[in-house]
Amino acid sequence: MATIFSKIAAGEIPSYKVAEDDRFFAFLDINPMVEGHTLVIPRKEVDYIFDLDDETYRGLTAFAKKVAEAIKRAIPCKRVGVAVLGMEVPHAHIHLVPLQKESDMDFRADKKQLTPERFKEIASAIAAEFKN
Ligand code: AMP
Repeated sequence: MATIFSKIAAGEIPSYKVAEDDRFFAFLDINPMVEGHTLVIPRKEVDYIFDLDDETYRGLTAFAKKVAEAIKRAIPCKRVGVAVLGMEVPHAHIHLVPLQKESDMDFRADKKQLTPERFKEIASAIAAEFKN
């Protein structure tokens, strides 16, 4: 059965898309720690990131780097933080989180509530800065 993230990458479930190519897809986390919190996934359905074949793993990190550069250009931040948890969704994904301060990356903190309009604005701003 396809994971929710496979359905998002296939366009079967809506998301706030940030970037895509034939192998990878990036979209806004629906429960963001801060504005611009983005998830990057391979279209290939593998649960644990370190079970990815080497080529896909390298491609995913290279794609995430380009997404992080777009986030940095679009969202005022000092750094874009990177995290992999995978405790919730069994489809490998990298969290990219624009950081002003260390505490911006806190997976236990209350998540930001954003309107659909704000999600769209943020996704468009990052997408406009993405260079494939
Ligand atoms: P984890 O698997 O622990 O890395 O957490 C999964 C992340 O996916 C969480 O930050 C969720 O907010 C996020 N998430 C789950 N479902 C969706 C969805 N449909 N669209 C966007 N983000 C999601």
